[in-house]
This record gives sequence, structure tokens and C-alpha cells, in this order.
Amino acid sequence: MTNMLVTNIGELLTLAPAMKKEGRKVTEHDLGLAKNQAIYIEKGRVSWIGSQKQIPKHLAKQKKLKEFSAKGLTVLPGLVECHTHLVFAGSRAAEFELRNQGMSYQEIAKRGGGILSTMKQTREMSVKALKGISQERVNEFISQGVTTLEIKSGYALDEKNEIKCLKVAKSLEGPRIVTTFLGAHAKPPEYDSYKAYLDFLQKKVLPQVKKQKLSNRVDVYVEKGFFSQEDSREFLKAAQGMGFEVLLHADQLTLSGGADLGVELNALSGDHLIQIEEPQVQKLAKSQVTCVLLPAADLYMKCKYPPARKLIDAGARVALATDFNPGTSPTQDVNLVGLLARLEMKMTLPEVISAYTVGASYALKLQSEVGSLEVGKHADFLCTDKDWQQLFYSIGERSPTFVYKSGELIY
Ligand SMILES: [Zn+2]
Repeated sequence: MTNMLVTNIGELLTLAPAMKKEGRKVTEHDLGLAKNQAIYIEKGRVSWIGSQKQIPKHLAKQKKLKEFSAKGLTVLPGLVECHTHLVFAGSRAAEFELRNQGMSYQEIAKRGGGILSTMKQTREMSVKALKGISQERVNEFISQGVTTLEIKSGYALDEKNEIKCLKVAKSLEGPRIVTTFLGAHAKPPEYDSYKAYLDFLQKKVLPQVKKQKLSNRVDVYVEKGFFSQEDSREFLKAAQGMGFEVLLHADQLTLSGGADLGVELNALSGDHLIQIEEPQVQKLAKSQVTCVLLPAADLYMKCKYPPARKLIDAGARVALATDFNPGTSPTQDVNLVGLLARLEMKMTLPEVISAYTVGASYALKLQSEVGSLEVGKHADFLCTDKDWQQLFYSIGERSPTFVYKSGELIY
């Protein structure tokens, strides 16, 4: 791998100060803004960063040095998309029309729609076909500046096909991929009780996921009437006992104990958090749990938005993500997510930028590798012709001009 010198950076956002604050109470100062900067990259990692005028001579004069002029563009860390359900077959567009025209979810499910329709199609699709459509979706994220991408299983709900989906996710190319086992997404029709299904996942599937090194993360959809707090606790504790990191879909529809359980188990993240109240806000703020907020899903679900301001002001670490999935968030629009966070959750722009870089890197436990541009970290960055104040601003905007992962051009 040749070394690379990036010169003529018009405006650089390192996010290093935000990283130092662990993504908490981020202000404009924490963006690490500087003009006329340069970055030196060695073996895919940042090895020097500073003023264009002060590039050390021994670096600039190396043989076989690749030089890339950013021509005055803005450079910021590659985005970290930390919550997607990207591997699935089929579409639920027809169902969206029915739901939007007032049909209940129960009626749609009776007609063969809902998550079980995605499950059926995902089980039936071949590895090759699933890989093909999934790679296209990954490419869509790359084109928006995403250099680290989380992908959950959870649309197959049986041993063979959950494993298949994790293998497909791991095989996808471009960004750094982080896989998560979400077998406990919904209960498949083969099981009478949620508890029995969790027992099956724990005894049969988790050992396979571990053995085949398909993921080191386990997620559960904790919700009243679905996976209860009590059952989820037992399952996640067992997963932790096997060496998995844990995270939760928490308090999306009702206050059902997900956030409380996340803090109790020291989970990497609690995701959604729409229904949490003051006690949960305080607990989360004092914990290491990253609060992953998913406003595009809230837009589609026409529900309220999570209390981002309260969380941030109390000192919690927040991340943002698309929740891309065929049912409740059929969008990969990262820009829209940030815009909704500003408009509907009153997050400041520096908070949004930090949430999509620093906050999300913590949610994936990659904060020492990505999320900010600092010496020793992966040279993951995007270049855009917009200044930073124009980010997450215009509907339909496409920011990145170039995207680099570990010093290699990927877009
Ligand atoms: Zn989700």
C-alpha cells in the first residue's frame, strides 16, 4: 500500500475534540475545524495531520508517494451508519400504500403482509441473489460517504437462513462492515412462545454464530407483546456469557424496559428510545450506552420523535442512523436522517455531525479506529464541495465528491 499525502483541504473537520469528550455535549468547537490543511496517510492510517504550510519535508519528498489534491474541498471523517437491516428480500411498497390509506397492521398481516412476508421471501432467496441486491444497497450508502456500515440479520428467523444472511452481510464489499445477530427480531410462526424461540436461538443459533465468527454482537427487539424485558435479560446475559456484545431495540412503541435493561447490562447501544421518560434519560446519560436515534423510522411511523435534546443536555452520547428496513424505514437517506434530527429533534448541526461519526463509532465499539481524523486512526474520509454549515440541510442533497476508506478511494 503506497503512502498518500492529501493536500489543499479547504476546510477540515477532524472531530477530534468531540471524540475526546466521548461524543457528549458536543459544540461547534468540538468539530476540530481548521482551514488549509493536509493529511499524511501511511498504510491506510493517518500518520500526520496539520497545516498545508507545515508539511514536514521528509514526508513530502518520499519516493512512491501518491498525492491527492482536495482542491479546496471540505474534508470530514467517513460517516458511520450504525443501524440497518440491509439484508432482506422483497418489497413492502404495496403494504405501505394500504397502511397509509388506513388499513391496520393486523389486517395487513392477515393478508400475508408484514414482517413475515419479508421473512418468507428472505428464506427463499438464494445466496447469490441476496448478495446482489444487498451489494447495491451498500453501494448506495458508500455514495453518501458511509465508510463503516452496520448490518443486522433478523429477516429469516431460522437457523439456516439467519446464518445465510450474516454470511451475505459479511461478504459485502466497500465499507467496513459490522454484522449484528438479530434473530430475536420477531417470532417466526413455527414457535408458540417468544420464550421458546429465544431458547432455540440461545442453544442452537448463537453457538453457530460464534463458531463461524459471523458476528460478535447480539440485538433483541424488546417490546411489550414481543420480547419481554424479562426474557430478553436472560437471553442477552447468556449471550454476554458466550462473549457477545449486546444491544437492544428499546422503547420504540411503549416504555417496556429496554433502556433500563440496556443500562443494567452495559449494552453498547439502546436504539429508538422514543418512549423513554426522565428516569431513563438520567440513567442513559450517566452510562456508557450510546443512544441510537432513528428519526426516518419515526417519520414513516408517524409517531413522536425521541427526546434527543433531553438526552444530550443531560450528557448522553447520541448516534443517528437510518434504520433502513423494508417495513418501517424504507430509506437509505443519511442526509434526511440528519435533517430530521435538526428539524424535529432540535439537534444542532455539530451534534448531528458528531452523532453520525463519533457517536456511531462508539455504538459499534470502533471509537479507537474510526469516527474522527486523528493520528493512528483509519484514513476514512469524505470530500465535499459544501462548507460544513451546508451539510444535512437541503432535501435530496448528495454531498460527497470523493470517499476514501483506509486511504483507498471507494467512491
Ligand atoms: Zn431497527
